[in-house]
Amino acid sequence: MTFPPLRDELAGIAPYGAPQMSTDDVPVQLNVNENPYGPSAACVADIAAAVAEAATTLNRYPDREFTALRTELAAYLSRDVPADAPVLPAQVWAANGSNEVMLQLLQAFGGPGRTALSFAPTYSMYPEYARDTSTTWVAGRRETDFSLDLDAARALVAEHRPSVVLLPSPNNPTGTALPPEAVGALCAAVAEHDGLLVVDEAYGEFRRAGVPSALELLPTHRNLVVTRTMSKAFALAGARLGYLAADPAITDAIRVVRLPYHLSAVTQATALAALRHAPELLGNVASLRAERDALVTWLTEEGHEVAASDANFVLFGRFADRHAVWQGLVDRGVLIRETGPEGWLRVSVGTPDEMAAFRDALSVVAKDAPRLVDASTPILPTTPTTPKEPGA
Ligand SMILES: *Cc1c(COP(=O)(O)O)cnc(C)c1O
Repeated sequence: MTFPPLRDELAGIAPYGAPQMSTDDVPVQLNVNENPYGPSAACVADIAAAVAEAATTLNRYPDREFTALRTELAAYLSRDVPADAPVLPAQVWAANGSNEVMLQLLQAFGGPGRTALSFAPTYSMYPEYARDTSTTWVAGRRETDFSLDLDAARALVAEHRPSVVLLPSPNNPTGTALPPEAVGALCAAVAEHDGLLVVDEAYGEFRRAGVPSALELLPTHRNLVVTRTMSKAFALAGARLGYLAADPAITDAIRVVRLPYHLSAVTQATALAALRHAPELLGNVASLRAERDALVTWLTEEGHEVAASDANFVLFGRFADRHAVWQGLVDRGVLIRETGPEGWLRVSVGTPDEMAAFRDALSVVAKDAPRLVDASTPILPTTPTTPKEPGA
């Protein structure tokens, strides 16, 4: 007899989560890709007023269809697509974080006897959605520069006939964005087996100039789902609001698996108020992108391998003992993330002061840190403009 009587596949599993440390102990927190800029006083006041208004009717269940919020989210997404093909409210669905959105997608379109697929290294929550919905999980590999070999991807899709393919763009933890041709080609390959392609654009707003959103492909691919979140670019991680755009038949189907009234009146009011402040909240995205590009340049000049990034974080390395480097940074008051393939570390982009603290600490810690260089672990090309020779 074991207690509690857990499902076998959950026994002994630790819950997902980055280590959380107090800012008293580690003042510079660059570990979970949060936006370092909090809402302005005007935005806070507007959210508070909206929540106070919602509180007067908290004895009632909220609008189950969150109609006002879907309308505003559709208008927001429509900025990223041609004006003659806007995103419509019926194409939008939302839940408590895009993690819940993607879990709902697997609840509706995965399940026993079905397969979900992605390409590693990628977001470590995907296999958990699959496990929790009893969906078979298959992970292909990305190339050494973290791009996708389209022929290999198509072959894997043909072999496993997945019901759902989860593909973040930009990818976490590597920062790699997918070209739209690859998204379109994969949509077509997945459609041959009646599957959905989910492009997770949690970091979409941080992509570099000239990198389009997969939203543009919605009119041509019925099996495409694009997920977004207010957690990163919108600086609203604490509110828990994620959403998607897809064919209305897809949003319709998700209704069957969502819990009743899953999006609280407080959440809806908060998100609506934040959307009214979109220009201000997104105003910081431009400076974070510039800070990201400067960080890539600095890390490269310091002799690190650096993955090209379209997100608000940068993957760099490779260290023979990455944990020692991570710990050395913690000891100097800087918390980053020990994640990605062997030897790599991920740092989120913070304020200029936070980045200065990170650069100072890393300069000291990395000086004597042994590098991970051997024949079995190929050197990754650095940013596209400065490829590095193997062994360099
Ligand atoms: C941060 C992140 C999300 C967003 O999660 P929320 O539940 O919306 O906070 C989604 N996908 C990836 C790859 C992420 O890194």
